[in-house]
Amino acid sequence: MVIKGTTRLLGVIGHPVEHSFSPLMHNAAIAHLQQNSGSHQPDYAYLPFPIRPEKLKEAIAGFEAIDLHGFNITIPHKQAIIPLLDDVSEVAKAIGAVNTVWRDKDGWHGTNTDAYGFLAPLKALSDASLTGSLIGAHTSALAGSLTASLAGPKDWSNARALILGNGGAARAVVAACQQLGCARISVVGRSPDKLAYFAESWAHAPHIASRLKVMTWDELPTQLPKTDLIVNATPLGMHPKTDVSPLSEAEIEMLKPGAIAYDLIYTPRPTKFLQQATTAGFLAIDGLEMLVQQGAAALEIWLAQPAPVDIMRQTLLDYLGQSRGQSSKKLLQAKPR
Ligand code: NAP
Repeated sequence: MVIKGTTRLLGVIGHPVEHSFSPLMHNAAIAHLQQNSGSHQPDYAYLPFPIRPEKLKEAIAGFEAIDLHGFNITIPHKQAIIPLLDDVSEVAKAIGAVNTVWRDKDGWHGTNTDAYGFLAPLKALSDASLTGSLIGAHTSALAGSLTASLAGPKDWSNARALILGNGGAARAVVAACQQLGCARISVVGRSPDKLAYFAESWAHAPHIASRLKVMTWDELPTQLPKTDLIVNATPLGMHPKTDVSPLSEAEIEMLKPGAIAYDLIYTPRPTKFLQQATTAGFLAIDGLEMLVQQGAAALEIWLAQPAPVDIMRQTLLDYLGQSRGQSSKKLLQAKPR
């Protein structure tokens, strides 16, 4: 990667931000484009910026002063950034959070690419063009047969989604499930107060509110047999507590035949939840592709040119110490039910 006197900055803000994989993924993509884009070589470098919540406004003013071109946003700034922007996209307004910001002559613009990233593997399934990277499969023929036998409904209009957790990521998943066309979107949480607030927060989006239902975990047994897509949007099972799953094996067995289990977590790959789902015969999708695709969508906004998605994905896989095939051996042991 070449840094010159003309190089402009991109970055990610958060607190903490040390855990972010975005600098790795984006700098690998920029370096690749610099070597392979002919006359359209991007002149950017991507850095992590740890910004304390009380310093957010000052930081944004500083970014303007140094002509920073754009940045990603992680916890805890995704909502707090909104009043500091000049323009927020409809999708980000619906989700109530911004994860991608860029600046032009009209000021700071914000959007949210998490819902897009979440949808990418599901859309690939619906297109029956499952690629190895999506669930770690390395043989497209095998993946194709699994798609045929295990994939959820291609027509999502009668599908029911069940989302475990009611935090920031769950909001993007709710918006994504509405875009997918799901008939019913259920959100499971442990705090009735937070659930009530979550439900009320969609009042501005009647097309989502009309199909959204919130519930506590004790309602799971009645919901699981009707569920076509179950999404873990909690940190349950995330490194280092890898021996935890949001569902018991008995609960996983209760899922509707052909259901898809989707875990937003990407370390470890697979999570215990996805191992259980695969063993029980369900198709499993982990959070790595969402991470890659939301990043690629942000990079395309900043650079105004296609992002090298394969490079971004492989950079993360290499960093996580997994070659393309390794996790698939576990994930593809599913027996169709
Ligand atoms: P968040 O805003 O902190 O929300 C976490 C949710 O999980 C909350 O609803 C919380 O419940 C619930 N929860 C936490 N611990 C729980 C427990 N022991 N039992 C039951 N529920 C529990 O976090 P987030 O940003 O939504 O992220 C959630 C997960 O998604 C994380 O694992 C994150 O790494 C992952 N993620 C992945 C991507 C990707 O690109 N793949 C993107 C975003 C997030 P309370 O509200 O009751 O505390």
